[in-house]
Amino acid sequence: MKNKQKRGFFVLFKVNLKILAAAMAIALGTAAFFTVSALEREEGVEVPVVMYHSVLKDEKYHGKYVISPAEFENDLQYLEAHGYTTILIQDLINYTKGGELPEKPVLLTFDDGYYNNYLYAFELAKQYQCKFVISPIVYYTDQYSESQEKESAYYSHATWQELKEMVDSGLVEVQNHSYNLHQGQGSTLGVKQLPGEGAAQYEKRLSEDLSTAQRKIEENLGMRPTAMVYPFGAVSESTPEIVKRLGFSVSLSCEEKISRVTRDPNSLYGLGRFLRVSGGTSTDFFQNRVKLPAEGGRK
Ligand SMILES: [Zn+2]
Repeated sequence: MKNKQKRGFFVLFKVNLKILAAAMAIALGTAAFFTVSALEREEGVEVPVVMYHSVLKDEKYHGKYVISPAEFENDLQYLEAHGYTTILIQDLINYTKGGELPEKPVLLTFDDGYYNNYLYAFELAKQYQCKFVISPIVYYTDQYSESQEKESAYYSHATWQELKEMVDSGLVEVQNHSYNLHQGQGSTLGVKQLPGEGAAQYEKRLSEDLSTAQRKIEENLGMRPTAMVYPFGAVSESTPEIVKRLGFSVSLSCEEKISRVTRDPNSLYGLGRFLRVSGGTSTDFFQNRVKLPAEGGRK
């Protein structure tokens, strides 16, 4: 290479370095910008979820799965007094799509679909303008809807008509708790895979049951559930993927933890829930058991 050519090469090289440096600065700046917005997106909101079952006045039934109407009312009063807003599953889905959540969100859920939820909890929800999710065992919804017997607060399940009235109020959302997989005897536990059951066989059985519940709820209530509420919180290794494939955007476990919901739709799977048992005060439950964030859900 001659000297002149050499100089030309170095000048060109220097110019290229300058361009490269400028390009890197822009790239770094952009990366920093994206990192910040990704962080913002990742931060999310803490969403406490409460799990209830039955509500009965009769004290002798109060316990793990039965609370009194007064206890539920106290919970609503506590949440209202501390600035919490009850939300529905749809609000969580909207949040992952860029929507907003109230400053202090809380999700109240009733499992199994008892008639006493309609009798007591729905009345209180209307009075306090509070929202809740009800996840019926659809097989029983069918049975009690067809039965001519007078409904009992002790054991009846809500009928399609009662569920429809609750959904139409805008205060209640119905979600999937299986059609008829709510058993826990022997080696059977909710939607879990059975011992010796093949993967394909399991997926078929689970899909058929959950799809039956989806179809019946849609036919009777005009809404399609978006969340799978696992009976007993029990799942097998392949369950979450099957549930996702069936189109559910959300799943609820029974793990007692506060979940953080971010803009990432995957943050809506396996949300924790706290079982509200009868006995303690609402303050005890929310402060010492749920450990509600003192300053609300945002950090
Ligand atoms: Zn249940």
